[in-house]
Amino acid sequence: MKLNRQLFLTFISSVACAAPLMMASQSALAWGDEGHMVVGLIASNYLTDNVRSQVDAILANDSSGLTAGDIASEATWADKYRNSHRETAAWHFVDTEISDGDIDAACFGHPSLPANTPASGGVAQDCVVDKVDQFALELRDPNTDPAERLLALQFLLHFVGDMHQPLHSSDSHDRGGNDETVSATGIAAGKLHAYWDTAFVNKLGTDQNKVASALIAKITKAQIAQWQQQTPRDWSLEAFDLARTDAYGKLPTPGSTGKYKLPASYVSNATSVVALQLSRAGVRLAKILNDALGGNAVSGASIFVSPFGEKK
Ligand SMILES: [Zn+2]
Repeated sequence: MKLNRQLFLTFISSVACAAPLMMASQSALAWGDEGHMVVGLIASNYLTDNVRSQVDAILANDSSGLTAGDIASEATWADKYRNSHRETAAWHFVDTEISDGDIDAACFGHPSLPANTPASGGVAQDCVVDKVDQFALELRDPNTDPAERLLALQFLLHFVGDMHQPLHSSDSHDRGGNDETVSATGIAAGKLHAYWDTAFVNKLGTDQNKVASALIAKITKAQIAQWQQQTPRDWSLEAFDLARTDAYGKLPTPGSTGKYKLPASYVSNATSVVALQLSRAGVRLAKILNDALGGNAVSGASIFVSPFGEKK
């Protein structure tokens, strides 16, 4: 099953000449732009001033023209880049199977980077967990080539978000929910994966700045302390658990045609889970960036104290 979503991506890329179809395929394959922008905005709130300045300076070198240059927009860059770099498609998820929970198998055995190869040039068959680890190391290393440093930052801004989408950290032999057709009151029928990418995010609001501000206002210091202790692998397994218990686990019995009519309770619970996951992703993205760019003068333990001093 690990390859099937890739095959699907390849298929889509080969047939999606028409812009509308390309847009449809894109929206079905990742947090939508809205979710990624919310993650970027939350992360930006928790960067130290020094690190935020460095992030802005690195992003100022982006001449790709794929997105605007602010942190929130750049958090969507990797989805645009994927359209012309299909070898990066599998890096956006990890198909840990609900049936076995084997994240190492889903990460293709964690292939190491070939000698003298930057993370952006790594093998196509790798998972989002490995890529976050690799790009974080590159961003931290002062000897990283400036062009690769920009790519590392752009991929991190996006992939930390992706791995928090429960259906980007799981699979139930259905391409992460892309094979399940669902409907709910007030939401156009679509795929389960797309519901988690965008429909439930839109339930939080359509203004990314307002959504991010509302989520930030609810994030407690205790949550930050808990969330920042963990590793990208833990974050993915946590999202996997939410897929098992909620995204898949709370699905109703399908109708006779195999389609699911989601009850209001599913939608409200999923929206709460999405809010939690966007918040976690933003806080953890900030942690990665503060750690990587904060320098030795700022220890990992103290990184979050100052930015959160004024917050509850
Ligand atoms: Zn993505």
